[in-house]
Amino acid sequence: MSGTVRNRNTTEKVHNEEPKLTEQQKKELADLKKIHPANEFGGIVGTFLLIFILPVVVYWIWASIEFNQGYLLRPATLSVDGVKDFFVTLYNYVITYAYPTKEAAVIYFAWFFFQAFLQHFVPGRRVLGSPLPGGKRLEYTLNGWASWWITLIVIPVCIYFGLFKATILYDNYAPMMTVVNIWSFVFTILLKVHAMIKDEEERMSGHFFYDYWMGFARNPRIGSFDLKLFCEARPGLILWVLMNFSIAAKQFEVYGEVSISVIMVCCFHFWYIADYYYHEEAILTTMDIITEKFGYMLVYGDLAWVPFTYCFQCYYLFKHLVDGQPIHISIGYACFVLGLKAFGFYLFRWVNSQKHAFRRNPEHLIWGKKPDYILTKRGTKLLCSGFWGICRHLNYTGDIILSWAWCLPCQFDSAAPYFYGIYFTTLDLHRCWRDHNACLEKYGDDWKNYCKRVPYVFIPKVF
Ligand code: NDP
Repeated sequence: MSGTVRNRNTTEKVHNEEPKLTEQQKKELADLKKIHPANEFGGIVGTFLLIFILPVVVYWIWASIEFNQGYLLRPATLSVDGVKDFFVTLYNYVITYAYPTKEAAVIYFAWFFFQAFLQHFVPGRRVLGSPLPGGKRLEYTLNGWASWWITLIVIPVCIYFGLFKATILYDNYAPMMTVVNIWSFVFTILLKVHAMIKDEEERMSGHFFYDYWMGFARNPRIGSFDLKLFCEARPGLILWVLMNFSIAAKQFEVYGEVSISVIMVCCFHFWYIADYYYHEEAILTTMDIITEKFGYMLVYGDLAWVPFTYCFQCYYLFKHLVDGQPIHISIGYACFVLGLKAFGFYLFRWVNSQKHAFRRNPEHLIWGKKPDYILTKRGTKLLCSGFWGICRHLNYTGDIILSWAWCLPCQFDSAAPYFYGIYFTTLDLHRCWRDHNACLEKYGDDWKNYCKRVPYVFIPKVF
């Protein structure tokens, strides 16, 4: 691919000439086609279990919130019969209340294709992604900010004109979740077929379930439509925010008011996603886009896990009652949570933006000084100034603080609303370890050198 793309902010021209391959790049490309060991996420057994356990975990938390006031359902006794009864109860909840319905399927697919339509047709700025193995850079049209606001206008207009109720997502939550579970399985199979037809499979292990989980092609596209960017950024992320709003609408319908804690969680999540779209270009330098292949892990994570579990705090706040009323928090406590959220957000945003600005323009001053960096043998630069000179992953630290701040409005009656904080901390710890290994493989001694210069990962002088 060759072309010239104009950057909106700098009017600087970015050239993407057909690259002449260096020996290093030829080796990188040849490596992709070799058989790779199945050694991530617990290997063949680990990935097989994850594929089937994750949906069960989501049903379990949903059933706990919906039918048990948010207290986690568990076996009455730790005997074989106790565990069996627990699974039978869960199965009955799913079959009775989460069976896929025609209405849920229509809602979901209308949503999915509406978002696909926006991604394809809304005008946006064209930018080049990070260099892939072999030096190639893909072109992306970034129209997320416009699509986000179009969605936020279209949905209320539809509600106003009575096309559907504001509570439609909450009312169809469980059947829709099952529809998306099935769709994630099918969609991943389609990705496999697509990758085989286009001969785009890379780093395959030859073990079906392991490859099904890890993915097949890195950046599958239909024409110019980037399937991974779409799933990462559109149907799941916006649905998560709308799901929160729908739960808030339900609380209003039932109690005649929306509690402060629900308002707080809705605003936190809304802000996070609005910020994401405002800085949309930053996704192009993330691990998900640069490194990961597209398979069940990302498909399920993007389409099902994000919208149906990230709203658990709101869901819990609606269903969990104290003296027959939704949880009410004091002004002092709300201010504390807001402060924590602001701190986490500051860290998350500025650390990510610093790396992104540096990658766009390595001369860009950081905290008033010329940035210090390591020029790697691959040609890319590893920033050693600013936040990236203090710790190697302060962006994760900020995100983890944020994740706990989002849970705190639920107070402490049950562990269910802390699902997000627990999951996200685990995810980022594991992600950090995986990224470290990927960078070690990519950069070799340059990465070791960076780790020596910046020895801490999350907390300066501690870890
Ligand atoms: P990073 O943005 O930290 O990306 C890691 C990559 O950045 C590395 O592979 C390397 O790639 C490059 N890099 C690492 N160190 C440096 C350096 N010193 N200078 C320049 N480049 C460097 O991590 P992620 O992509 O995992 O995450 C981005 C954000 O998204 C995080 O804040 C994370 O918490 C958040 N996130 C949120 C999720 C959610 O569900 N809410 C899910 C996943 C992530 P290369 O050199 O090849 O460019």
